[in-house]
Amino acid sequence: MPSEHFKCDCCGLCCRSLKKVPALADFDRGDGVCVNLGDDNLCKVYNSRPEICNVELMYERFFSSYCSKKEFYKINEEQCKKIKEDFSEKSER
Ligand code: SF4
Ligand code: SF4
Repeated sequence: MPSEHFKCDCCGLCCRSLKKVPALADFDRGDGVCVNLGDDNLCKVYNSRPEICNVELMYERFFSSYCSKKEFYKINEEQCKKIKEDFSEKSER
């Protein structure tokens, strides 16, 4: 069953994967990590973060006519899972 709410566990890995997000290239400090990611693994500009970082806003602006919010959350959660797997594979190498 898709979630009622988007389940972000604040792992911070999407904010360390900017090489894969051309729209956030200006925020890449050079190694794929966002300049706005704090030492506590949280976004330092959360309340004014870019649109693409805001799941709710992205849904309302661009995806609400294509899928339900639950489906959109599920797609995002699958991406989170993929990012975690990619990082886990990298750390095992
Ligand atoms: S990868 Fe997913 S779970 Fe981790 S911080 Fe990003 S949105 Fe949250
Ligand atoms: S702006 Fe914030 S939410 Fe967006 S990638 Fe950077 S640290 Fe993550």
